[in-house]
Amino acid sequence: MQAPSLSIIQSDVPAWQQMLSDLVTDPQELLALLGLDASQLPASAQAAGQFPLKVPRWFVSRIEQGNPHDPVLRQLWPLIDEETQAAGYVIDPLEESRFNPVPGLLHKYTSRVLLTAAPHCAVHCRYCFRRHFDYAGNAPSREDWRAAFDYIAADSRIGEVLLSGGDPLALSNRQLSWLLEQAEAIPHVTTVRIHTRMTIVLPQRIDAELSARLAASRLRVVLVSHCNHAQELSAESKASFKILAANSVTLLNQSVILTGVNDTSSVLIELSEALFGQGVLPYYLHLPDAVAGTAHFDVALDAAQGLVTTLQQRLPGYLVPRLVREEPGEKSKTRYA
Ligand code: SF4
Repeated sequence: MQAPSLSIIQSDVPAWQQMLSDLVTDPQELLALLGLDASQLPASAQAAGQFPLKVPRWFVSRIEQGNPHDPVLRQLWPLIDEETQAAGYVIDPLEESRFNPVPGLLHKYTSRVLLTAAPHCAVHCRYCFRRHFDYAGNAPSREDWRAAFDYIAADSRIGEVLLSGGDPLALSNRQLSWLLEQAEAIPHVTTVRIHTRMTIVLPQRIDAELSARLAASRLRVVLVSHCNHAQELSAESKASFKILAANSVTLLNQSVILTGVNDTSSVLIELSEALFGQGVLPYYLHLPDAVAGTAHFDVALDAAQGLVTTLQQRLPGYLVPRLVREEPGEKSKTRYA
């Protein structure tokens, strides 16, 4: 019998999974795709070695050609600045290792737990507070997952399960469905919250099978996208949000305020309005966490508060995100505006 052709084999793989495996990981290739050269934007080999460049090829289209200061590119490019050792910037600024009672589960706030559902992401964001996270040591087996869900089942105060990562939507529909089933089987769990950047960097991920599974869940489903600049939004993200909303998923967004990306009121206003135009409400504006290698992104608290004051003057209240910082050991995020 003749072996099936490659095109037939590939057609069994969902389009989004093929796109997820088509990543730009070589800084030289990204420069070439953007019409830039290394003299305009030198890369840090050390930073790229520790936390490699990773961008879905599709998402490169959201970066402006020939602009080394593009705000989307700045979130992805391993700058020399990452080599700076700034005082107070550490590997685990949120001390998450203190709140990790079983592999794959973080329990920081009483009523909710976070599962590090996926050990990888579609993209590497240079400001990521989990860029040094020990995913290898936190890649739960089925046994570990059972222990995690036993932990949730034993604590009736836990009403919400957060799927985070890595990026939980980097998992297959089958894997996600299994995790949902485990949460659905615990009577006191009422809500599942999915934190993802996939709706932004690879919105094709929201396929019919996933949407139908979320719609069929007995849990309330909240999806929090992570978008930092209006330029990241696309016709494709709008289509994905429309499908999710039609399947009763609550759509929120959280951003991180980042120097050189979105640290002006005009950019933040444009972001809030663009998100609303795609059916998504701005929820949190995070001050950056003090993670090693990211000091160049920092925005001072008083400057961020000033920006939010301008947003309050220019936008309806429902489009003004809450300015927050996460502090290790606190029972909730600290709110500043
Ligand atoms: S997608 Fe999220 S977890 Fe992954 S690198 Fe970006 S910020 Fe970090």
